[in-house]
Amino acid sequence: MTPAEEAFLRRAIELSGEAHASGNPPFGSLLVGPHGDVLAEERNTTITDGDISAHPEQKLARWAARELDAETAAATTMYTSCQPCGMCAGAIDRSGLGRVVFALSGDQLATLKPPGTGFPAVPQEGPALFDEARVPVEGYYRPSTS
Ligand SMILES: [Zn+2]
Repeated sequence: MTPAEEAFLRRAIELSGEAHASGNPPFGSLLVGPHGDVLAEERNTTITDGDISAHPEQKLARWAARELDAETAAATTMYTSCQPCGMCAGAIDRSGLGRVVFALSGDQLATLKPPGTGFPAVPQEGPALFDEARVPVEGYYRPSTS
């Protein structure tokens, strides 16, 4: 990792401290564009916004998908204080961003939390009603042109 990348990660850690100080979970992230410029920064605001999806990575992935053209997004890196959770990883995959660099891993974060602070998995049932459920899907997806 280069000194410049470490500086961006340190900024993400600083943003995580700002999130903590504002009463939110301690996570922060930023996007760095193709020319090394900071495009956007976010902090976790799940508590103050009353929004379980207000993780900084999620907010930045949505911003990138909305505001960046595909070429710029692909050359943009997300620096984040902690490895993205499953929800955010899915949004990042859909955003077209080129790369993620994180400080704490999810496993390292788990060692810093008291027992019982995770989210229990919700049981899922299916598949069912394939012949009916396939009807609105058929014809929607087309082979990618790129
Ligand atoms: Zn997340």
